[in-house]
Formats: sequence, structure tokens, C-alpha cells
Amino acid sequence: MSLPVITGDKEEVYEDPLDLMDEIDELKKEKDASILAHFYVDGEIQDIADFTGDSLKLARDATKVKTSTIVFSGVHFMGESAKIMNPEKRVLIPDMLAGCSLAESCPADQLGSFQEQLRAEGRSFETVAYINTSAAVKSLCDWIVTSGNAQEIIGRVPDDKEILFVPDQHLGRYLMEVTGRKMILWPGSCMVHEVFSIQDLIRAKRNNPGSKVIAHPECPQNILEITDFIGGTEKMRQHVMSVKEPTTFLVATESAMIHAFEKSAPQHNFVPVPGIMVDTGETCACNRCPHMARNTLQKVRDCLRDGTPEIVWQDYFEKARAVLDKSLL
Ligand code: SF4
Repeated sequence: MSLPVITGDKEEVYEDPLDLMDEIDELKKEKDASILAHFYVDGEIQDIADFTGDSLKLARDATKVKTSTIVFSGVHFMGESAKIMNPEKRVLIPDMLAGCSLAESCPADQLGSFQEQLRAEGRSFETVAYINTSAAVKSLCDWIVTSGNAQEIIGRVPDDKEILFVPDQHLGRYLMEVTGRKMILWPGSCMVHEVFSIQDLIRAKRNNPGSKVIAHPECPQNILEITDFIGGTEKMRQHVMSVKEPTTFLVATESAMIHAFEKSAPQHNFVPVPGIMVDTGETCACNRCPHMARNTLQKVRDCLRDGTPEIVWQDYFEKARAVLDKSLL
């Protein structure tokens, strides 16, 4: 029996995930393709991927892919980065509408105007962009960072330069604290990490005595202040693997990440920290990124089979590539 299921923007007919996985395996061989999947996409997609990881690891993995086609299961800017690093390869993404609220909070034209204004004021600065930005924005920047390498890269900005950090104000504030560098912060944020509720976190701590909080630095400051370990997704994964004693971890990041934690450190118990829905003020229990959730097994199969949607090379990718190359490799 076929059941319709809703996946964001359209109805999809239910198909058995195991059949889809078999079909995807066959198509990968037939189309000479590899699948890269971000830690925030559904666990079943991570399970069929050739590479899984955070943005930094996947950007590096993209350069090691031997096949002629890459399917990037994540969001649009990640597909762009994979294409920029591999101009000769065909890069497909399962859903062209999988965007990112953080990347969208910093449009390239607005960043360009702001940089012009700073230059007109005689300010001497370098622009450091979090990797969650469009390729057009990357092409306007001096450095690209991920939550995994930001401290190291910021150390490379000469002391006599100011730093304009875009687009995540929370990550920027955290980096100011840990590096001691003053920064001009772009007022952007991630819709998922912005909604974590401090009250729910405190209640979860009370209900789980002895638990430890792990949080992504994109979370607001009030969450980070009561966090035991702050790090990007890969750093969090390494951290839970390094703890041998079975522990309950309260997880303040996108809830699909728990799949990767459970695979890497099965001795622990992982509890997602609920968030607050901005429109209703109600708490929700999942913190799913709606953009990442656009990735489904069916869409992975469809884009492999049909060869679309594809990330097509743009002129400004060249400039973005130079910035990515010096920052990530
Ligand atoms: S979790 Fe936030 S930063 Fe990550 S893709 Fe979703 S909206 Fe963008």
C-alpha cells in the first residue's frame, strides 16, 4: 500500500526505506557517484553516505572524492562549497530549496555595502565569514571559518586589523571571548540554535542529575554560560567519544546529530534540549532544522537517477575558492 507523507513542500508517496537504500546503492555504481551527508540530516541518509561529518570535514572530504559525481545531502551553501572545491565534478543536491536561515541573514549586496561604508570611514579590517554563507558572500571575505577551526584562523588575522565577523552574532561573541579579539559582529543567527530555551535546559538538568550539557557555539550566550562542553559538531562527537564513563548528555544542537553520537559513543544517553517556537512561544522537543529535513532518501534517489538539481559553476566561485583554499586546506 502506498501512503502519502508530507516532507515540507510536497506530498511524497511512501516507499520502503530499505528498498530505497538498495536502489541508491545501485544508482551510485551506475552513475559513478559518492554521497556526502551532514550530521544534521536524517540518520538513514547518514547510514548510506560515503562520508559524514560537519561542514569542515565534508569540505575536506569533498576534495578526496574519486567519483565524477557528488551528491551533497545537506543545505545549498554546502553544495556550493563542494562544487567550488571540485569544479570538474558534477555536484547534485537532493533539494534546491534546502537553504539556511543563517546564510540568508547575510545577503552579499548588504555585506558589500557595509564593507564599503567601513572603508569610507577609514577602518582597516579583514572579513571573517562562518562557512554558513553563500558563495557570493564568501567571495567578499578574507577568511572562511567553521566552528571547528575558527580560533586557529582568527589567530592569522594581523593584530593591527579589525575583524568584521559574519553572519553569526552568537558564534562571533563566543569567539571574541575565547580569542580576546574585538570584532564587528553582523547581526545574523541560526533559527534552530536561536530557539533553545534556557528554562527547559535548566529543567532538563534538574530531571537528569549528573548530566552534562554539550552545546554548539551558535547557541545564544545564556545557553553557553551553563554548558559543560562547547564545540562544533565534530568536536562534540570527539568529546563524547573521549568520555568512557556512561553519562547522560543534554544536547543543545540540531537533534539529528544524536544519531552520530549514538553510533560513535553508544555507552552514553543523549537527550535533546527542547527549543521555543518563535511564533507561538511553545516549547518543541526536536530542534530539527527545516532545511536539513528537506533531505529525504527519496530525494537522494531522485537526484541520483535524474542528475538534477545540480549546482552550476558561477563566476564568483573562483574568488570564493581562493578564500576557501587558504582557510580550509
Ligand atoms: S541548523 Fe541553522 S545554521 Fe545549520 S543549516 Fe539549519 S538554519 Fe542553517
